Amino acid sequence: MTARLIDGNALAQRIRGEVAARAAALRGQGTPPGLAVVLVGDDPASAIYVKHKVKDCEAAGLHSVLEKHDAGISEQALLARVSALNADPAIHGILVQMPLPKHIDPHRVIGAIAPHKDVDGFHVANAGALMTGQPGFKACTPYGCMKLIETTGIDLRGRHAVVVGRSNIVGKPMALLLLQAHATVTICHSMTADLAVHTRQADVVVVAVGRRNTLRADMVKPGAVVIDVGMNRNEYGKLCGDVDFDAVREVAGWITPVPGGVGPMTRAMLLVNTLDAAEAACR
Ligand code: NDP
Repeated sequence: MTARLIDGNALAQRIRGEVAARAAALRGQGTPPGLAVVLVGDDPASAIYVKHKVKDCEAAGLHSVLEKHDAGISEQALLARVSALNADPAIHGILVQMPLPKHIDPHRVIGAIAPHKDVDGFHVANAGALMTGQPGFKACTPYGCMKLIETTGIDLRGRHAVVVGRSNIVGKPMALLLLQAHATVTICHSMTADLAVHTRQADVVVVAVGRRNTLRADMVKPGAVVIDVGMNRNEYGKLCGDVDFDAVREVAGWITPVPGGVGPMTRAMLLVNTLDAAEAACR
C-alpha cells in the first residue's frame, strides 16, 4: 500500500485565502490586523523564517512590522520594546523569533508578551490554557499538525497517538491537542527505551525530533497517519524530515512530505492566530 499524501501546501493556501478574507473585513472596519516580528541578531535561519512571515502577512493583507535588533541589545532594552508593542493598538500579534542570544532569557521575554498578543502560543498563560482546556492561542506547529490530521478524516477518539519529541513548542502542545481530541496519547523522547515498541502501536505518529530517519518503515503500523515535523538537511543539502519518507510511505495510510507538509501549515496558523487576536481586539 502506498500512503496518501497530506498536502500541506494546498491546505495552507486555502487557510491563507480565508485569512485574507477576514483581514479584508477588518480593514473595512478600520482595523487592519497587525503582526510585529522581532528579530535579534543575525542568525541566517532566523532571518529567513522572519522574511517568510512578513511576506505571508503582506500577501494576506495584514499589516506587519519587522523590528531588527543588534545581537548586543540588552535584555532590559528588548523587554522595553516588547512592552511598547504590547501597548501599540495597531499591533495585535507579537512574535519574538527564537533563538535569542545567550545573555537574554527567552522565558522572560516570552513572559513579557501580553498573552492576548502571544500569537506563537508560547506564553505560560496560553500553554496553561491548553493544559486546562481553556481558550487561548495554540502553538502554530502543533495547531497546523492537527489541521493536517483533520484532512485525513480520521476520528481521533479512542485512537492511539504517539508523539516523538517533548519540546515546549512542538511535542508537549501536540500531545495536549491530541489528548483534547480524545486520543490515547504516548509521548516519547530521547530517554524512551524502545521507540519502535510505541510507534508500532500508533494510529497516528507525529515525529518532532530533528534527526533524519528517526521513524523507519519497520516502526510504523500499516495504515497509520504519519506527520513529519522535522527539518533537516540530507548529505546533498536537501531539506528532509525525521521520517524515512520513501520507505514509510509504503506502510503508512497517510503521510506528510517534507517540504510541503508541516512547514507551510506552521506559517498559515500564525496568520490565523493573528487574525483571531485582531478580531478579539475589535469586539
Ligand atoms: P527540540 O530539539 O527542542 O526537541 C527535540 C525532541 O526530540 C526532544 O524532546 C528530544 O528528547 C527528542 N529526541 C531527541 N532524540 C531522540 C530520539 N533518538 N528518540 C526520540 N526522541 C528524541 O526540537 P523542536 O521540538 O523544536 O523541533 C523538532 C524538529 O522539528 C526540528 O527538526 C525542528 O527544526 C523542526 N521544527 C519544524 C517546524 C516546522 O514548521 N516544520 C517548526 C518547529 C520545529 P529530550 O527531550 O529527551 O531531549
